Amino acid sequence: MKTQPLNPALRAIPSVDKLLEEPGVQNLAAQTSRPFVVSLLRKVLNTFRQDLITRIGKDTTASDPIPCLLAALETEFQKWTTPQLQRVINATGVILHTNLGRAPLGRKALENLVQVSGSYSNLEFSLDEGSRGKRDTFADRLLQEVLGCQQAIVVNNCAAALFLALNTLADGAEVLISRGELIEIGDSFRIPDILQKSGATLREVGTTNKTRLSDYARAITERTRLILRVHPSNFRMVGFTSRPSLEELIELAKVKSLSLMEDLGSGCLVDLRLLGIDDEPNPKASLAAGVPLICFSGDKLLGGPQAGILAGQADLIVRLRRNPLFRALRVDKLTLAVLESTLISYLKQRETEEIPLVRMISEPRENIGLRAEVVLARVRLPAGIRATIIEGCSMIGGGSTPGHGLPSRLISLTGRHLSPDRMESRLRRNSPPILSRIENDSLLLDLRTVFPEDDPSLSDALARVSNE
Ligand SMILES: *Cc1c(COP(=O)(O)O)cnc(C)c1O
Repeated sequence: MKTQPLNPALRAIPSVDKLLEEPGVQNLAAQTSRPFVVSLLRKVLNTFRQDLITRIGKDTTASDPIPCLLAALETEFQKWTTPQLQRVINATGVILHTNLGRAPLGRKALENLVQVSGSYSNLEFSLDEGSRGKRDTFADRLLQEVLGCQQAIVVNNCAAALFLALNTLADGAEVLISRGELIEIGDSFRIPDILQKSGATLREVGTTNKTRLSDYARAITERTRLILRVHPSNFRMVGFTSRPSLEELIELAKVKSLSLMEDLGSGCLVDLRLLGIDDEPNPKASLAAGVPLICFSGDKLLGGPQAGILAGQADLIVRLRRNPLFRALRVDKLTLAVLESTLISYLKQRETEEIPLVRMISEPRENIGLRAEVVLARVRLPAGIRATIIEGCSMIGGGSTPGHGLPSRLISLTGRHLSPDRMESRLRRNSPPILSRIENDSLLLDLRTVFPEDDPSLSDALARVSNE
């Protein structure tokens, strides 16, 4: 076997102990923690060694490696001491972007969050009675008022809400669901899987495109306990399709003494019909029609924190509360602080002013166009880059209102020597990162999802990336 000549640079790599004698490293160890710095040094040395090994035979000059290692240590230190979760500017025009954290929170909600979580709070303490209280009493009351339901309870997210309800109402029994509603919501969260884990047995009725009331009626046995209706939130069936009306299902469930639950997904409380979107279900309408139990997310079209809200008849909510699983799925004080504020905004009808998501949805396209003009007027783009303002669409996203766009005016950029991919990646590496989209070989920026106070940063970034 022929051994490769050992790169002399490999022999010149200092030990961890040697590096710990460097004043800069000693300082860092004194200011933070010695074991942490040792761990960083090991990573840095490892990478350095690997780099040298892959270069064996090509580069055998052994220069002093220490400055290089110290610089790498600084980079590694920054990487480990800066939170990876960071603010980004969303210029994609997708209002509810699950990859970008769904609903951004408003100032009022954030102030309450800071107040409540930066100190002790009365989370489970009744200040009136001076004794133990329940953590979600006020959220429950607010939901009753805002939604018009008898009672409500809050869990970690809508998936948890569905799981808790199925386990409470149909463990060991059958649940009827239309084949057209057996959906995957995203990230492999599938309705049939969660149903099975809850202990309930799935009984599919109807066909993918058509399910009749008689299909439900025929499938009922003595083991049937619940009819589940799911809003197919992230896709839309068009053409030869039908399913029973909510009223028909309510009536059938009543006659057959079954529970009926509707998973609405988004739980939109604003009237999207004004924006031409007429198939987004409204929780208030479902409850008013007589659906005994509904669930929806807190951070979709409600515009609040990640949470799953269950609302409906008092007897059902009481049963959910008694299930030991509720303890495992309950929300913390951070969520409750934000949720209470969000619901108060709806109660006062101040949602357009106080909830960023509602403001974004309702911003007129003329206004977005004017902001785009101001953003472009502030930048001097090089001759090779063409910027125009075009008609386009924002998407609500997040598995809501599929197929519907909100008319918007977009900044469109094309470069003679700069591809849209390059521009996209440069903007993404900006600080803060700016996320955009590419369509028809142009880079598009939709200001609907950009906070107006970020407009100037957008101008600055555009100037930088096109002149780079
Ligand atoms: C999004 C969605 C869920 C899951 O909601 P999370 O709050 O993300 O858990 C459940 N059902 C439907 C119909 C949805 O659209």
